[in-house]
Amino acid sequence: MPTIFAERFAGRSAVITGGASGIGLAVAQRLIQEGGRVSVWDRDPAQIEAARASIPALHGQTVDVADPAAVDRAARSTIEAHGGVDILITSAAITGPNMTAWDYPVEDWRLVIDININGVFYCNKALVPHMLERNYGRIVNIASIAGKEGNPNASAYSTSKAAVIGLTKSLGKELAKTGITVNCVTPAAVRTAIFKQMSQEHIDFMLSKIPMARFGEVDEVAALICWIASEECSFTTAAVFDVSGGRATY
Ligand code: NAD
Repeated sequence: MPTIFAERFAGRSAVITGGASGIGLAVAQRLIQEGGRVSVWDRDPAQIEAARASIPALHGQTVDVADPAAVDRAARSTIEAHGGVDILITSAAITGPNMTAWDYPVEDWRLVIDININGVFYCNKALVPHMLERNYGRIVNIASIAGKEGNPNASAYSTSKAAVIGLTKSLGKELAKTGITVNCVTPAAVRTAIFKQMSQEHIDFMLSKIPMARFGEVDEVAALICWIASEECSFTTAAVFDVSGGRATY
């Protein structure tokens, strides 16, 4: 059971992309339990409604993060509705199909890149100027162990997550003299709805690489993300946090 710090996010407002499901939803729940306001930007309206049914305090907007104009509109309306945004968690992503790079359909490649890289860029870009005006911000981009190691039969996904690490390092350094920190996390496999997009062979491969010999839990990833998103995490930026059951070797 997570230890809830009741007032940790009191007065703080967060945007969580892809927050209607899985890891993003677990982070949303914890931020709200700890006093924060959360706006979820997700492309799936039914999933947002389901999330709101279990967490009534959750706000949700249907947003495709791969559409920069939609991201800008969502940023403006969230800032207006919540009086500001202090925290951005980018969780929205897809895996794309599991196959070799040479067999990979160009359209699938483009979609993975568009959502997993460009979507993260658009959201970071849309909210940083606002955070700069307030000289405070906590950005946590969700990458993956796949971005460090390169999983076979997941080249688009691995490439996209390596790019998220690169963007986090660049942006974190650009903002290092401000009150905004930019970090990313690299989970290994965590059983969520995203597993439905992968082959069983690929899921078995991911599990076989984890020294703890189990999948991670969404609450375990949320606990780390919430600490990075808190005021307390103040001397770390442009960094990559491991949450992989011992898989990461650096
Ligand atoms: P999930 O499928 O449960 O949640 C992803 C959410 O993103 C969904 O609600 C989906 O509707 C939303 N989404 C997808 N495309 C979108 C778009 N274009 N615009 C807006 N929303 C969109 O997956 P999850 O397991 O919670 O994954 C969350 C993050 O964690 C992802 O970035 C994923 O790559 C990363 N991650 C997951 C695992 C894992 O094993 N679950 C491991 C490493 C990294």
